[in-house]
Formats: sequence, structure tokens, C-alpha cells
Amino acid sequence: MAEQVFLPGSTIGILGSGQLARMMTQAALPLGYKVVAWSGGADSASVDREVDQVISASYDDQAAFAEFVEKVDVCTVETEKLPPALMQAVAEKVVLRPNAKAVEITGNRELERNFLASIDADQTAFHVVDTPEQLSAAFAALDGNCVAKTATDGYDGKGQWRLKSEEDLAACIADWNASCRLVVEGFVPFTMECSVVVARNPQGDVQAYPLVENVHRHHVLDVSILPGRVGQQVAERAQVLAEKVISGLDYVGILAVELFVLPDGGVWVNEIAPRPHNSGHATNDGCVTSQFEQHVRAICGLPLGEPRPHGVTVMVNLLSDIWKDDKDAFNNPEIAALTGAKWHFYEKEWKAGRRKLGHVNFVEPTLEAALEQSEKLRSVLFE
Ligand code: AMP
Repeated sequence: MAEQVFLPGSTIGILGSGQLARMMTQAALPLGYKVVAWSGGADSASVDREVDQVISASYDDQAAFAEFVEKVDVCTVETEKLPPALMQAVAEKVVLRPNAKAVEITGNRELERNFLASIDADQTAFHVVDTPEQLSAAFAALDGNCVAKTATDGYDGKGQWRLKSEEDLAACIADWNASCRLVVEGFVPFTMECSVVVARNPQGDVQAYPLVENVHRHHVLDVSILPGRVGQQVAERAQVLAEKVISGLDYVGILAVELFVLPDGGVWVNEIAPRPHNSGHATNDGCVTSQFEQHVRAICGLPLGEPRPHGVTVMVNLLSDIWKDDKDAFNNPEIAALTGAKWHFYEKEWKAGRRKLGHVNFVEPTLEAALEQSEKLRSVLFE
């Protein structure tokens, strides 16, 4: 069972129906797989046109559960925000890759930090707190310079408080109101944020992509550069950490380890995403095997693909605060003139805020050439 291989012709089930499920499907179909996505009741516009079937029901719908497990041979996830009981129930019926425990750990900051400590992965100091008194003690222990995060349900900077003064502490206590458990982390004076996307198949083979450098805007990923601008030592440290994480979780599939680079060249783990990751979208066009194809290969027990980059890729996210309509790509002569651009639209409805509506990759022989193209696009989008 542990090393079971699913050959083309098998049906892959995905828990989730957003853009990650869409891009997994776009990689699975040419390899000869069928795909059934279970939306959990969420918007499924992204996968509707791609998959063989969408089951549009909530995750507690028993008929939907029965239909899903009956139809799929191997199941995977596009998000860590899934009920652990659902994943356990699915895993009792079909092979679930990655395993339910790994997804549960990475969906909860407390479990994740404790797991990282258990494998001796480098990370910032942290305290888990339930009461205002414990939060005050953690703030003092972390020299009054820390970030408090909700243990669950936080993402893209949501459910986070930056604490660097007694006023911040008081505001956080009032806002939080002890409504949930917090993980309080020492503030990391990082020089760069980066990630390593890594895959493991059930046979235990591991393949990491080159380190990706990530730049955020308002806490949401804005631009990624593959390979990132770090020295060989930092790149190797990051890769060793990522491989330690994926093996420590006995993980099958692709995952992203988000990392901080420190002023002294040290590398610490920020968090783990148990799925293809936004920072890995550069691999869609920039590497021999995309992270989505690699995920499909891994969960089906195929040999892992070659992760080698073709050159340098700069990925730009298209967020709904600056990107209004996919048609703008070719309606606007300046954007249309970027003939090296590789567009990826998710067909999601525009909504105010910072919804991820697509991304674009610029793959060039040199970093300068890729940055020149991406900067041209950004100058039009931000004008
Ligand atoms: P997260 O959702 O945990 O990835 O946090 C969102 C962003 O907040 C990160 O990308 C960092 O820019 C920043 N951040 C999170 N935790 C820390 C920390 N312990 N020290 C410094 N910056 C942090």
C-alpha cells in the first residue's frame, strides 16, 4: 500500500477547487489521468472547465463523500485548511497523499513549530499562549520584539499582530480577546524571504527545485525569482532544511518550505505549505517539470521529473487590487508588446481586495532580461 503506483488511466481526486486544483489538473490530463475535484462548497470556477467532474457539496455531505471515494483511486489536497476528520475518513477508503497527519501539522502553527523543533530545524524562538498573562510573559521573553499569530486560520498576514511596544501588546490583547490559541514568534530580522519547493514520491526519492526569492506586497506574494539571488551556501542550507522537513513528515507529493535568510547567512523556517505553492508557479514555464506535474508524478508513485531551470524566471502575481480584467493583457498595447510573457489566468471572478486572479512568468537567459520584462509590466499595472 505505502508504495502503491497509480498509472495513467487512474483517477486523481482533489480536495479543493481553486487555482491550485486547476493547475494540478492541467498537469494531470496530458499525463493521462482523470481528475475529480470536491469543492467543499467553495467557488469552483477555476476547475469547472478543466476537471472531469466537480462535486459541489460541503465536506460534511455524506453522499458527496461516498461518491468521491468511489470514483477516485488516489486523493490529494490543494489546501491545508481541511477538517482532520475528513482527511482521516478519506484515507480509510483511498490512498491519500500527502498523509493526513502531515496536512494537519502544517495547517496548525503550534503543531508545525513543535514538529520543526522535533526535527531540529532552524527556526525562531516561539511560545504558545492562551491567556493575556501568558502573552505578556512571551512578549517579555522575546525582548519585546515579536509577532503573535493565531494557531489556526491565519494566512497572508491575517490573524497576525506585530508587537514591538507595550502599546502594541495592549492593542493585541484587546483585539485578540483570548479568542483562540496564539503562537508568539521572535521577530526575525531577515534580509530575504525565500522558499524551497521540494517533492518526494512513495519510493522515498526526493527532488528540490532551486531556491526561489520572494517579495511580498501587503503580506501577499508579489514577485518570485527563480533561482533566487543567494550564494551557494545559503542555497544549500535551504535545500537541506527542505529535505529534512519533507522526510520528517514522511510526506508524498510536493511541498513548499518558506524560509527567512538572516544577515549572517543562516536560514530559518517560517512555515510549510503542504501543496504546490504560489512561489513555485515560476516552475510552470521556468523548469523542465512544473511543480504541478511533479506533484502528480509524486502522488501517483511515478519517477520524479527533472526540476532543472531553463534560465531565470521572474513570476509576477496578478492580484485584484491592480488587475481588473484578463482582457487587459492583449487590449493594452504596452502589455501585449511583452511577447515573452507566459500568462496564467485562473478564470476567477474579480472581487475587491487582493484576490489572486492569475500570474505571469518571464523566462529569460539572464536575470536582467527577466527583470526588465517584469518591470515593464509592473510599470503599466501600477501607473
Ligand atoms: P506568514 O503568514 O507566517 O508567512 O507571515 C506573513 C509575513 O509576515 C511573512 O512573509 C513575513 O514577511 C512576516 N513575518 C511572519 N513571521 C515573522 C517573524 N517571526 N519575523 C519577521 N517577520 C515575520
